[in-house]
Amino acid sequence: MKIIKTGFSTWENRHETFTQQIKDLYTLGNDPMLGPLEAYIDTTKGLQQIIAEAIAAKVPLRALGSGWSWTKIAAAEAGIMIDTKPLNIMFDLSKKNVRRNYKGDVSKLFLAQCGNGVWEISRFLRTRNLSLKASGASNGQTIAGVTATGAHGSAFDTGAVQDFVVGLHIIVGPTRHIWLERKSNPVAAPAFIKSLQTELVQDDDLFNAALVCFGSFGIVHGVMIETEDIYLLETYMSRMPYDDNIKNLMHTLDFTKAKNLPCGTERPYHFAVQINPYDLDNGAYVTTMYKRPFKAGYTPPVRNADGLGPGDDAPCFIGKMAAVLPSLVPPLVNKLLAGALTPYTKQFGILSEIFDNTTLHGKLLSAAIGIPIEQIGKATELLLALNKTDGPFAGLFAYRFIKKSNAKLAFTRFPFTCVLELDATFSNETYAFYTKAWKLLEDNNIPFTFHWGKINELDFGRITRMYGDDANAWIAARNKLLDSDDTRKVFTNATIQKWGLDKVI
Ligand SMILES: Cc1cc2nc3c(=O)[nH]c(=O)nc-3n(C[C@H](O)[C@H](O)[C@H](O)COP(=O)(O)OP(=O)(O)OC[C@H]3O[C@@H](n4cnc5c(N)ncnc54)[C@H](O)[C@@H]3O)c2cc1C
Repeated sequence: MKIIKTGFSTWENRHETFTQQIKDLYTLGNDPMLGPLEAYIDTTKGLQQIIAEAIAAKVPLRALGSGWSWTKIAAAEAGIMIDTKPLNIMFDLSKKNVRRNYKGDVSKLFLAQCGNGVWEISRFLRTRNLSLKASGASNGQTIAGVTATGAHGSAFDTGAVQDFVVGLHIIVGPTRHIWLERKSNPVAAPAFIKSLQTELVQDDDLFNAALVCFGSFGIVHGVMIETEDIYLLETYMSRMPYDDNIKNLMHTLDFTKAKNLPCGTERPYHFAVQINPYDLDNGAYVTTMYKRPFKAGYTPPVRNADGLGPGDDAPCFIGKMAAVLPSLVPPLVNKLLAGALTPYTKQFGILSEIFDNTTLHGKLLSAAIGIPIEQIGKATELLLALNKTDGPFAGLFAYRFIKKSNAKLAFTRFPFTCVLELDATFSNETYAFYTKAWKLLEDNNIPFTFHWGKINELDFGRITRMYGDDANAWIAARNKLLDSDDTRKVFTNATIQKWGLDKVI
């Protein structure tokens, strides 16, 4: 493995919302002189060496994906961060790699090295007429990074990205690395375990804990994903009255009574709503996407005059807005949204064309909470009222929907979760609004969870209220996999300490 020790003493996240002091940032690469499997095995050894080095130096170590998170989960305070993006080997799998009783289709199963961007995987799959089952709104994250926080889109019957991961290759220490999968869904055949020179661990609880673990269980070197035949998305966005029709859809996801949607009462693949608190009388922005069989010759999606494509969400454009005097917030939000959210009809594209990599960024804040869908009306009324008394909030409210995940700490944990996203300008006022919003929801007994990679205000008390026994099961799993003080310390950072998830039991 190639290791470039950059000598950087600071690291800044993609949205430039914080700068972290570090000991060093290493950029890793596979040895180009070796074949894919040899290079992968060599990199496993290299990762183990880096863990040994961090233990000897008594500093924390953290794998970094694309650095897209707003929380400091990828940061190793005074420690070593490792940029994994160049680790992008993809492996096709054959029948001999997979157990005979594997429930899926081996031709749609792949092993992705951790640094593969979601966009890179999509490009690889495109050549095989396959597709990921879902992604977030943008696709620049790495596969390990996107899984580690439970990132999601709004494919509400499909799930979040970690929901189609079936195996993880994790380097848990300087002398041990494991292939972790569910006992209830065995995938890897002995030949596969042998070829990675690893150790098989089949355990549902450990696997479900490790899926969403923000770098705290070791370094994820490989991620096995289930994919599906390539498909097209038929996409629409329109302005619709924010009335009982839309509210009912948001509360129930029952499309059998839907009115005025582009494809009638057909259940969409993706459903999302955005509201501008300063222009509600003119309706909500409603996005629906329907899955269609792939057919060549379609016209690919086009971007609007502001450079936004059909799948882009608010973090792709809110950064254009600077903090302004309170009286100027409503007209500014109205102006920004009028340019960015332009209705469109019947645009077609494959998943990675609709949800592509954003080139727009800048300072902005994004917070996202998961709420049971039936509570979303009440939560919205409270937030709109809060905006009148304690606003103006310099942003918009966005709603996406996701079915329940099996991952212990997936924030999409309700039977159907509405992910309510508050995206706004980078300012103290936005932070203050967030604090008041979370308290208001708690005071009104609205259950909610926080996206781990977005601005949140978590401590162990809140985590326990949100996750109950699953939080303790996650801690127990971490202690089982990181079975020495040395490795537990190396894979601890200030964020998980603040969250109380570093407990030794
Ligand atoms: C423009 C934009 C759009 C976004 N859209 C969405 C969206 O639609 N839906 C959504 O849910 N989120 C969204 N997010 C949030 C983002 O998807 C998540 O924060 C995601 O985790 C970032 O992935 P990353 O590759 O940048 O990981 P990073 O932010 O670099 O890291 C995230 C975590 O993964 C860990 N990690 C990374 N690689 C490894 C590894 N190899 N082994 C172990 N741990 C590892 C890190 O240590 C860290 O704890 C968006 C963010 C931006 C900036």
